[in-house]
Amino acid sequence: MSGTRPDTADIRRLDAEDPLRPFRDRFQLPSGVIYLDGNSLGALPRATPGRIAQVVGAEWGEGLIRSWNAAGWIEAPARVGAKIARLIGAGAHEVTVADSTSVNLFKLLAAAMAARPDRDVILTEAGGFPTDLYIAQGLAAFAPHLQVRAVPREAVAAALGADTGVLLLTHVHYKTGAAYDLAALTRAAQAQGALMLWDLSHSTGAVAVDLEAAGADLAVGCGYKYLNGGPGAPAFLYVAERHQARLRSPLSGWMGHAAPFEFGDDYRPAGGLARFLCGTPPMLSVAALEVGVELMLEADLTAVFAKSQGLCSLFIERVETLCGAFGLGLVTPRDPAGRGAHVSFSHPQAHAVMQALIARGVIGDFRAPDILRFGFPALYVRHQDVADAADALYEVLASEVWRDEAFQLRAAVT
Ligand SMILES: *Cc1c(COP(=O)(O)O)cnc(C)c1O
Repeated sequence: MSGTRPDTADIRRLDAEDPLRPFRDRFQLPSGVIYLDGNSLGALPRATPGRIAQVVGAEWGEGLIRSWNAAGWIEAPARVGAKIARLIGAGAHEVTVADSTSVNLFKLLAAAMAARPDRDVILTEAGGFPTDLYIAQGLAAFAPHLQVRAVPREAVAAALGADTGVLLLTHVHYKTGAAYDLAALTRAAQAQGALMLWDLSHSTGAVAVDLEAAGADLAVGCGYKYLNGGPGAPAFLYVAERHQARLRSPLSGWMGHAAPFEFGDDYRPAGGLARFLCGTPPMLSVAALEVGVELMLEADLTAVFAKSQGLCSLFIERVETLCGAFGLGLVTPRDPAGRGAHVSFSHPQAHAVMQALIARGVIGDFRAPDILRFGFPALYVRHQDVADAADALYEVLASEVWRDEAFQLRAAVT
């Protein structure tokens, strides 16, 4: 094995000197597990169960309906949105929490296309995250004057034209981990008169994002990945302040009304971003998300993003050194500036290899058809975990234990 590999003492030193080290203890993590799938479902903050118990027992149980006002429930979407705004370089009034990422995509895509009535194309990346494509397709089926054009990644910028109403891209690709230049693509879309809609699901809490510096228009993102909001956590949406008065949600529910408790017959959108709310906020879930977001805001974000990049680089180096003979191909960009906080390798038997790894307590995930994916959230992954995970991958590949019958079965969720 190569001498470039950091030795055990180096790994120990990296963890000992890690300024984020105390954050790991703020999460409940099962023993015997190395969790490298926080990019798919973030870990449980230790403070979450207590907060949920408080919302259920005191705020709901005792406060009952009074808690909409007294416990700050009604302003929770805006309050938590303002906290998420700090993670993505947005103004406090430019982010709110609502619905799922999929539903928020629908709302913003429809609003954006309505704001560009002379244009009929939603441009996006072929091979992007499925829900982004499916939601765009669903909108076009519903509004048949619209069409979806999905082009290969390299062709996106050149495909922008006078017919493009909105360019929809996922900033960090869910499978490859490749990151777009957010500011450059935003400028390119705007130069053609299109609106830019970013899906920040794999970026928020993972890499530095500065929407304000990029002059961004619109964005959505996920609450249950790096924000540790829990399974199915509410998502967020961003609308730049300059667009807020003009854009309208197609899901004109009462919570987006200017005066929901006047109970009038006619919809009138709220003045600010509240117009993009639809129905009543799911308070138990919003409360859990708020715990995750607050925990991340306690950390020095520069250290968070730098540590994730260091963990990614360490994993790539170690896996390539150990496992070079076993047919793995690095899919993720080598350059830290061009990627998110997860790393993917291709392997012809990726599914069985991942099942064998999970059986050893190293949890990453499989993405069809041939990707082994590993996420490196900085708040709870240690350098030692990275080294141990690479060693486990080596053992699985060298022993060919993945050939075992038990590792061939595919579950509903991979
Ligand atoms: C995880 C993820 C989503 C999630 O969408 P849901 O509506 O929460 O299921 C959307 N887009 C991208 C790019 C994602 O990675």
